[in-house]
Amino acid sequence: MHVLILGGTTEARRLAELLAAERSPGLRVTNSLAGRVAAPRLPPGEVRVGGFGGADGLAAWLRAHTVDALVDATHPFAGTISLNAARAAATAHVPLLALRRPGWVPVEGDVWHEVGSLEEAAALLPALGRRVFLTTGRMGLAAFAGLDDLWFLVRSVDAPEAPHPARMEVLLDRGPFSLAGERQVLSGHRIDVVVTKDSGGAATAPKLTAAREAGLPVVVVRRPPVPDGVPVAAGPAQAVRWIRELRERAAYQRGG
Ligand code: NAP
Repeated sequence: MHVLILGGTTEARRLAELLAAERSPGLRVTNSLAGRVAAPRLPPGEVRVGGFGGADGLAAWLRAHTVDALVDATHPFAGTISLNAARAAATAHVPLLALRRPGWVPVEGDVWHEVGSLEEAAALLPALGRRVFLTTGRMGLAAFAGLDDLWFLVRSVDAPEAPHPARMEVLLDRGPFSLAGERQVLSGHRIDVVVTKDSGGAATAPKLTAAREAGLPVVVVRRPPVPDGVPVAAGPAQAVRWIRELRERAAYQRGG
């Protein structure tokens, strides 16, 4: 069985590790990365890098490489590749699973403003503060470019490119982040408001705790929906079970 994992996330890497640990003969795993990060953390197994050329390109890849199962383990906000995966899987008749870590849920003391897009987040910011901790990644900074009265601390893995806010400092870093570290970022830069995508997961959650402790508002950008009809696994172990069931079914059909 050949499994293609669309990755670029901690969960995708974890799934690849779990499958590698099974040492199962006849199980081939290919990991696909978009190539956005200069020095990505590589998962075990085969790795290919770069786009497929849309849904048609991905469908052609699935056929050419005789893929038996596709796991879309991309980031919850990587909406284009997830739509392409749904279309390509339907065209090439390959079973598809979406692996999505659960979103964050506010707890008592949180002051969250939920919005539908980066543009909505930008529109809300002037009413919430002057010094912004922007953790939505280096893509999409254009949405905040016109806010000349605000100052931004932008945290990203690689350096952002223009267009971006005029008044900004860049903090090059990648998670996981500690609570102590996040407290220091907020107080050290006298942050008034935090902006985040609802990425979910533990690695980047401490900023939410630090903001709650400091009584700071957090603008949370909601996730795009998983494409219609695609089953969802909440974690890598559940995805492993899905792959195991597909293999058992295929073995049974071969036997029958
Ligand atoms: P996107 O907007 O959904 O996808 C844009 C294009 O990038 C896709 O059409 C596809 O190109 C290519 N692509 C995306 N993921 C790919 C993958 N795993 N393998 C091969 N090609 C891929 O994606 P994005 O938001 O730019 O994210 C790019 C990657 O970064 C994803 O793998 C995602 O898991 C990771 N990531 C994203 C975020 C985020 O906030 N968006 C955060 C952390 C990590 P073609 O059409 O040519 O196939």
